[in-house]
Amino acid sequence: MSETNPTHLTIPADLLPSDGRFGSGPSKVRPAQVRALADAGVSLLGTSHRQAPVRSLVRRTREGLTALFDLPDGYEVVLGNGGSTAFWDVATACLVRRRAQHAAFGEFGAKFAAATSAAPFLEPSQVLTAPPGSVAHPEPADDVDVHAWPHNETSTGAMAPVRRVAGSRERGALTLVDATSGAGALPVDVSETDVYYFAPQKVFGSDGGLWLALCSPDALARADEVESSGTRWVPESLSLRTAAANSRQDQTLNTPAIATLVMLAQQVEWLLENGGLPWASARSAESAAHLYGWAEARAWATPFVADPADRSTVVGTIDLDASVDATQVIAALRANGIRDVFPYRKLGRNQLRVAMFPAIEPDDVRALTACVDHVVDRLA
Ligand SMILES: *Cc1c(COP(=O)(O)O)cnc(C)c1O
Repeated sequence: MSETNPTHLTIPADLLPSDGRFGSGPSKVRPAQVRALADAGVSLLGTSHRQAPVRSLVRRTREGLTALFDLPDGYEVVLGNGGSTAFWDVATACLVRRRAQHAAFGEFGAKFAAATSAAPFLEPSQVLTAPPGSVAHPEPADDVDVHAWPHNETSTGAMAPVRRVAGSRERGALTLVDATSGAGALPVDVSETDVYYFAPQKVFGSDGGLWLALCSPDALARADEVESSGTRWVPESLSLRTAAANSRQDQTLNTPAIATLVMLAQQVEWLLENGGLPWASARSAESAAHLYGWAEARAWATPFVADPADRSTVVGTIDLDASVDATQVIAALRANGIRDVFPYRKLGRNQLRVAMFPAIEPDDVRALTACVDHVVDRLA
């Protein structure tokens, strides 16, 4: 065992990434986003969200997302306060008629399953699970009216296909995909979903606190049906119908964080200017190919997700073997300005977790692995 204090280790400057932020959310905010915030200074910050300047910011965001996701006819960009966690409650209250089916293969998928399972007005949810590091897939079922799963399970680094379950539309079941960490960096055909929802603090490099949902006409009709049935109390702050009505006016039910919207709009436009989803997803995939290839070439590192097809191209998880203590590696990296490559806390593995969102330079992911090599050599 070495006595090296990891925080005393100095990584040579020429190995360091240009930006040391590799956290999976909140994630790297690009300097241009911060400049946009400074520019918004007196024009937007501290002004009414009911007046034209902030409403046009919301419109820019909604139009940008419509273009980025090539939204099918009739789909709407709906937004509200509370982040993706609040959207689970919105969906529980407004979109599940009787019973939901969840494919859960990590913390986030399990949390939404817990939300619908706890609702006293719903039947116990059907929860299909798979061990962390693999993917559970939704399947046909006669008695469910919602299929839900995460596009990218941020807690484990596994990603799932976004495809409707065969026959689900005919059975009147909606498809809800939690794309919080995948939206904007994974290829997707939104017409394979009824709600593709996310929050701004992952791929969009903004702050948390908002939810955004790309809703199909079927999803909006379901919310109308459930909310007007008179059999269920839906608090106004959880009403999807109310959120949609406000969104159509480029507003939110209650006050949003304007700074979050400014940074979000800037990022959506940056993605579009560079080539949109194809560009963003190729950039993340380039980083991922490097990260997993690097791990496979090291005797002491292994991609946590066994099946290469399930390996996320936006959040990579790399297990270290018993000869290398990940907490020491993480401490040494942090002491050198490389932040937040710790594994999801409840996973409890000897692991590094690396965000590879489009804002993160692929060259910086290459620099990161060079830094890990350097640290592991010195700690050994
Ligand atoms: C981060 C994350 C969430 C939670 O998002 P909040 O906005 O913090 O509620 C939900 N689902 C996934 C897949 C996430 O990565």
